[in-house]
Amino acid sequence: MSYTAPLADILFTLRHVAGLDRFIADGLAEGLDADLVQSMLSEAGRFAEEQLAPVNKLADSEGARWDNGRVTTPAGFPAIYKAWREGGWNGVSAPAEFGGSDLPLMINTAAMETTTSACMSFSLGPVLTHGAIDALAEHASDDLKQAYLPKLVSGEWTATMNLTEPQAGSDLGRLRSRAVPAADGSYRISGSKIFITHGEHDWADNIIHLVLARLPDAPVGTKGISLFVVPKVLPDGTLNDLRCTGIEHKLGIHGSPTCSMSYGDNGGAVGWLVGEANKGLACMFTMMNRARVATALQGVAIAERAYQQARAYAADRLQGRAEGQAGDVSPIIDHPDVRNNLLTMRALTQAARSVVYATAQAVDRAERGGDAAAQARADLLTPIAKAFATDIGVDVASLGIQIHGGMGFVEETGAAQHLRDARIAPIYEGTNGIQAIDLVLRKLPRDGGAPVKALFGHFESIVKQVRANKDLADVARQLDAAICDARIAAGWLLDPARTTPERLAGATQFLRLMGLVSGTALLAGGVAAARGSNDPASARMTGLLHFLANQTLPSVSILAQTLRDAASSLVLAEVALELG
Ligand SMILES: Cc1cc2nc3c(=O)[nH]c(=O)nc-3n(C[C@H](O)[C@H](O)[C@H](O)COP(=O)(O)OP(=O)(O)OC[C@H]3O[C@@H](n4cnc5c(N)ncnc54)[C@H](O)[C@@H]3O)c2cc1C
Repeated sequence: MSYTAPLADILFTLRHVAGLDRFIADGLAEGLDADLVQSMLSEAGRFAEEQLAPVNKLADSEGARWDNGRVTTPAGFPAIYKAWREGGWNGVSAPAEFGGSDLPLMINTAAMETTTSACMSFSLGPVLTHGAIDALAEHASDDLKQAYLPKLVSGEWTATMNLTEPQAGSDLGRLRSRAVPAADGSYRISGSKIFITHGEHDWADNIIHLVLARLPDAPVGTKGISLFVVPKVLPDGTLNDLRCTGIEHKLGIHGSPTCSMSYGDNGGAVGWLVGEANKGLACMFTMMNRARVATALQGVAIAERAYQQARAYAADRLQGRAEGQAGDVSPIIDHPDVRNNLLTMRALTQAARSVVYATAQAVDRAERGGDAAAQARADLLTPIAKAFATDIGVDVASLGIQIHGGMGFVEETGAAQHLRDARIAPIYEGTNGIQAIDLVLRKLPRDGGAPVKALFGHFESIVKQVRANKDLADVARQLDAAICDARIAAGWLLDPARTTPERLAGATQFLRLMGLVSGTALLAGGVAAARGSNDPASARMTGLLHFLANQTLPSVSILAQTLRDAASSLVLAEVALELG
């Protein structure tokens, strides 16, 4: 169950797929160079390998515990968190003004990949704090920034995101928590929140909750939601009127406390408005967009860990004699079916990594270069990255169990933990169904489809580069056909003759095909760009690219066809959903 940070693959993706070298050359990351990135990521990888990976299984079996409002995280977590924040990992891409290193999001993404692979339940605490830092930096008043950002950036305090209530999950318009203005300009918050990640824990002296609530007379639905900062400990050192009433017993990420929170049982928790009244959802979206990239990364990270474990097991486990091999028994890695499963795991992981890092790069270009086209690309890629990467996280972890046979189904090997941990990522941060809806109803039709057309244009320029390499002729052919199918599917969805039910019925198929095409095209661009560079990962990436192009891209044509038939299939089969 050891873990080795895949530094060569991460650096390849950063440099050749996400275009880090060009990004630096364009003057968008002052003081950063390839050597610095490499040494920083090796440090992050070492921390993950030595400190976090060894506690992952214990964190799963021990879990977080609740006792009368107090939450104890698994043994070792508080000390590891202290070392982690003292190492400066919390503030990698936080604003320098508040003590951060102000590095691009793609660098933080690379560092967090190793943290998350090593122990996903640990990584969730920092992920929420990172999102809150972004939301406060962009929307809070100067006073609130000064009061909270320095300690959140250093990691001395942590933060949470409080959206969900029992009756308000995907549908935040049903949210009921209340905020009443007080004479001193603050607010009194009351209400119950559920499923709050790291809502209470033993890592820090203060926890800063970002809470969505309604002001008196606020409009109904999502237009009447405001965002408040509600600290556990108030500036005068007294405890605020809030408590953790319990934690969930759940399928995976046992080390991360998922808390029920009660605000205002004794008159109202003190909070301060962030941004404008009734514009809370827009402010929270800053946090959610950041958290969506981080959640996408969880899919990649767990897939990588599951692959590494399955690869090691397959080399060790002896069963049957593989065709053409000497002796009477072979390691199972020599059987074509097992090799096929392992390559599927690794190729999908790299495709998803390519999409996630490219999304982070688009966010960086938009933020640092004020580049509107990059913002449109980031907006388009975010739901694709979130849903595609977290879905493949589950698929890959499940294949990992298959490779272990019966030993995968029992807890002893740890293969099952990866699937249990991976399973939450398609659910939180907007379920993958909601991501698909966001893609087809909002991101795709934006500006008459200009962002998606620009993305296809970029992919077609990659095909030209790939075609210049004779050994990649199969890749160019498959990619060209898949982009063509994806263009047709997008055109069909954009056609004004389509009804909304037709678009909704085929949304998930469209998102999946966009994930496959984007992951393969971006990797192909990286492979072509790395030619002649002696990059240590080049040969491996070329192998994975052939596999993706020939074994997964053909499914794009089927997805493009099924999405068109999806609405009529639902009608033809609707009788099957009736009771009885
Ligand atoms: C471990 C864990 C940690 C979490 N952490 C946090 C946190 O830190 N902060 C926080 O605020 N929340 C958190 N959540 C809550 C999480 O974001 C929600 O569970 C998620 O948004 C889905 O809401 P729901 O569970 O109510 O499901 P529902 O909204 O009831 O959805 C159920 C199913 O219906 C589908 N569905 C719902 N509406 C539609 C629609 N309009 N169209 C099509 N399909 C639809 C969904 O895709 C899903 O498959 C966490 C949850 C868990 C389990």
